[in-house]
Amino acid sequence: MAKEKKQGRSFTGTQKIAIERMYRLNELAEDEVKNNPKRSARYVELIRGLSTRFRISIPREIKDRFCKTCGNYWAEGVSVKRRVKGKTKNSNCRICGTLTRRKISEEKNEEKRKHKTN
Ligand SMILES: [Zn+2]
Repeated sequence: MAKEKKQGRSFTGTQKIAIERMYRLNELAEDEVKNNPKRSARYVELIRGLSTRFRISIPREIKDRFCKTCGNYWAEGVSVKRRVKGKTKNSNCRICGTLTRRKISEEKNEEKRKHKTN
């Protein structure tokens, strides 16, 4: 998984651990989202807490999974509506109604970077 990912900056030991914990929390949130969305929202809170405490940004693949406005973890097709519009991917939160736009080209760059490091 996303270990030892070098992106032109180096993380301290604790930051690396925090990132690993984020991935773990993301997995837990994913497991719970259908049966226990409230618990998933709590995991999102923890992920954000780690990000603030260790001054690291949340990896995009995780950030993409929850609403940054209401903090709810998105269940695909249930609490989020995703639509690709030209070169933009829209994620529409069904809980608070926030629309998040993301350029698809950005994602592709990220993919390339991933393959390089693997
Ligand atoms: Zn929302």
